[in-house]
Amino acid sequence: MTALEVRDLKRHFTAAGGTVRAVDGVSLTIRSGEVLGLVGESGSGKSTVGRCVVRLDRPTGGSVLVNGTDVTTLSPRALRPLRKDFHLVFQDPSSSLNPRMTIRQIIAEPLRLHRMANRKEASERVDELLAQVGLRPELADRNPHELSGGQRQRISIARALSVNPALLVADEPTSALDVSVQASVLNLLADLQRERGFGCLFITHDLAAVEYLADRIAVMYLGRIVEQAPAADLFAAPKHPYTQALLSAAPVPDPGEQRGRSRIVLGGDLPSPLDPPSGCHFHTRCPLVTDRCRTEAPALRTLPLGSGPGAAEREVACHLVADDGTVPDAAKAPAAAGTSV
Ligand code: SF4
Repeated sequence: MTALEVRDLKRHFTAAGGTVRAVDGVSLTIRSGEVLGLVGESGSGKSTVGRCVVRLDRPTGGSVLVNGTDVTTLSPRALRPLRKDFHLVFQDPSSSLNPRMTIRQIIAEPLRLHRMANRKEASERVDELLAQVGLRPELADRNPHELSGGQRQRISIARALSVNPALLVADEPTSALDVSVQASVLNLLADLQRERGFGCLFITHDLAAVEYLADRIAVMYLGRIVEQAPAADLFAAPKHPYTQALLSAAPVPDPGEQRGRSRIVLGGDLPSPLDPPSGCHFHTRCPLVTDRCRTEAPALRTLPLGSGPGAAEREVACHLVADDGTVPDAAKAPAAAGTSV
């Protein structure tokens, strides 16, 4: 069963100087019980995809199907009963928890809004959820400001899961937390996801986190997906030159392996989505750029990763990746040497 299907999603803004194409034709699918990691630099449009999925932002094109229902065209009134099926966990829990409410009220609020429990049942459910996210029951009567950042993010997760959603969108859920508590919150998310089997769109720039949590990974660059593959295949053999560069810069735990790797250093910053480069958006930074790349945008093509039922697929948008998946090594391109970020 499919928890989320996004088809040709667009989010364009009018700004001084033209149209910002923050999201420009993104398609992705998350099956029930699957975690899709959406990665890319700040400004790539990945958070805007998440906001459109939970309808905090209105798409300008395309469709978003949650549990089979297109939520892009529904009125706020028609959307209300469906909101229990998809929840967002924000980057900064302080901004998403009402400071005047107690923790018990915060966690119980979705149950009350969706009429899924009476007062007594809701209170019991809050105690269960607090235990499930590893917090003591006495915290229920406190306010958010009395808790640490890690505890507040655990409350956000408990609140999001109170109504058993089919889909959780987690937008950089640990990046505002102290490094010392990031791993424990990620572990909690992974445990809950495995136990409850909800689909999860995990938006992050943290490659170690996405490798740990995600079943599949989609890589975004300037509003478009440039590569999508099962996590293990993407990390073992990235095909798109941008993915190769991202992964080459990520630290690995084994110092011997780290020393043996060649780093692909990209020149320049992410271009503005107000004036994206022609052809392949990545051509201004790509070590393998050819003349064709400057004029012709590469389509996102499906490459087989195996054969037979259950064989996974990989999608790549690059003119140089052959149909059998062979690809030049961006680290060996002359343009990759000596450039700096
Ligand atoms: Fe690089 Fe060209 Fe491939 Fe774009 S299409 S990633 S510029 S080689």
